[in-house]
Amino acid sequence: MEQKTQELHDDTIIAHSGRPETGPVNRPVYRAATVTFGSVKEMDESARGDTRTLFHYGRRGNPNSHDFEHVMSKLEGGYGAITAPSGLAAITASLFAFLTAGDHILVVDTVYGPTREFCDKDLARLGVAVEYYDPAVGADIARLIRAETKIVYLESPGSKTYEIQDVPAIAAAARARGVLTMIDNTWATPLYFKPLAHGVDISIHAATKYIVGHADVSLGVAVCGSKEVYDTLRHFSFRLGVCAGPDDLYLALRGLRTLRARLRQHQENAMAVIDAVKDHPAIDRILYPALPDDPGHALWRRDFTGANGLFTIALKAGTDGAAIARMLDGMEYFAMGYSWGGYESLIVRAWLDGERSVRRHDAAGPLLRLHAGLEDPRDLIADLRAGLDRLRG
Ligand SMILES: *Cc1c(COP(=O)(O)O)cnc(C)c1O
Repeated sequence: MEQKTQELHDDTIIAHSGRPETGPVNRPVYRAATVTFGSVKEMDESARGDTRTLFHYGRRGNPNSHDFEHVMSKLEGGYGAITAPSGLAAITASLFAFLTAGDHILVVDTVYGPTREFCDKDLARLGVAVEYYDPAVGADIARLIRAETKIVYLESPGSKTYEIQDVPAIAAAARARGVLTMIDNTWATPLYFKPLAHGVDISIHAATKYIVGHADVSLGVAVCGSKEVYDTLRHFSFRLGVCAGPDDLYLALRGLRTLRARLRQHQENAMAVIDAVKDHPAIDRILYPALPDDPGHALWRRDFTGANGLFTIALKAGTDGAAIARMLDGMEYFAMGYSWGGYESLIVRAWLDGERSVRRHDAAGPLLRLHAGLEDPRDLIADLRAGLDRLRG
């Protein structure tokens, strides 16, 4: 069912877009590498169609990719989107599509670790000058922009430590110089922050996290703000051969249908857990932008409409590895694992080594990154309190 009015609210877009008009509510999974045609005319026309709805060869899109890309694009207020087999693939394809040897790129210092590794190893190898900038740079990004600067890459909040960037100021400064902006918007999802409305050109998501929401699919999506940017990225992704599988796309659209309800509960559970443990003597402080004393709180309140289940505990200085192993090995409901955004609670030691080159994070002790899942928060609190008690032997 397509909406009849212009300005639909997000939750209605989520419930009503990307569906057949009538008949069974959900579109089936189209497992199709090959598409056949009834006439030469039909075949010729299919190749010339709108690349947002092409269905003439499996790699170039199918009804499942169209539906998911369409809904994501609507939510972000974009022109069109491309999907990729992982969040990282959506990021690297987006960067790759616009860069040439001799270009310069500005990347936020708090960027997702594997994105940083791609910049350092591969963009550098291909002759792109990579420079990291302070997440607090704001409008001063203008001073770092050179004649060769092609892209300013943002991620807000930053990975593991959640620094909030002044996205509107950075996007405006970049646009004034004709520099493209891209943001990793995974943390906020399209519900809690709208980068394209703030002047960013491409908003990228690891749908693997909250959009899929059930820890069973790796998927990435990049939403473009204009036809020009979309066409460049779409045709590059065709040449690169990047595409996502129909089963994964179906599950991502299914996850998206319940995103609001899940996010609300993740935030509520994270808040309950944080509130219950924040004064524990083993904790130095808790990093979570929704906390009033978090350094990013004011900007988060200005630009974001919600938070999620992800937070980091900075332990007291001097907490050693053996104590942390004692804590983590005994956790009952916070499973040890990378990733976040699924229904389950997770805990992992967060290392910043090699991931900050502009400004060292000022945490006194080791960091633990936690994801509050959808379990009953009373059980999560008991588990975490017992774990923190184990730090003291
Ligand atoms: C997980 C993650 C990615 C990468 O997503 P994958 O699907 O695992 O490749 C990118 N950015 C952020 C912020 C992430 O948390």
